[in-house]
Amino acid sequence: MNAWVSAYIGLGGNLAEPETRIRRARRRIAALEGVRERGFSALYRSEPLGPRDQPDFVNAVMAVDTTLPAQDLLRALQAIETAEGRVRGGERWGPRTLDLDLLLYGAACIRTESLTVPHYAIAERPFVLYPLAEIAPQDLYVPGKGLLKDLLRHCPAEGLERL
Ligand code: ATP
Ligand code: MG
Ligand code: MG
Repeated sequence: MNAWVSAYIGLGGNLAEPETRIRRARRRIAALEGVRERGFSALYRSEPLGPRDQPDFVNAVMAVDTTLPAQDLLRALQAIETAEGRVRGGERWGPRTLDLDLLLYGAACIRTESLTVPHYAIAERPFVLYPLAEIAPQDLYVPGKGLLKDLLRHCPAEGLERL
């Protein structure tokens, strides 16, 4: 059997009762074969990144231990997005029912056509860093980017509200 790896997943959405979907996504992720929940942040409200004429987002971060290879975990997350009504091919950063991004996978740096880990924008997004800091160890190192606490210092919590 594969060893257990500590991974972090970013959850977000801004359509059709995002809080309910995020809570349901949490249960679906925790129920995956080879995945155990280790922590879950508070929910946050955040201003949309791209087009402004869309509802605010609700975001959270989940910590898991997993025996799934990163690519398989991503596939499982995408299946949950689809089950929650995510339609692909819309506007970039446009409205969506559910977005599940693999933020960190142990200390791995992965760069394939379909998967970049750590998530490419992890260091610039308050709606990722602040919930992550709630559930990650104080001294978490984000491979290739730096210590979480240093990333936080450079990322004001602008447009972010803890719910
Ligand atoms: P952003 O990546 O800026 O947060 P997004 O989450 O809306 O935008 P998606 O449409 O969900 O983007 O994903 C686009 C593609 O990103 C997916 O097809 C997936 O293969 C790829 N991808 C690469 N790295 C990751 C990752 N770490 N987590 C999730 N998807 C990733
Ligand atoms: Mg995303
Ligand atoms: Mg995504």
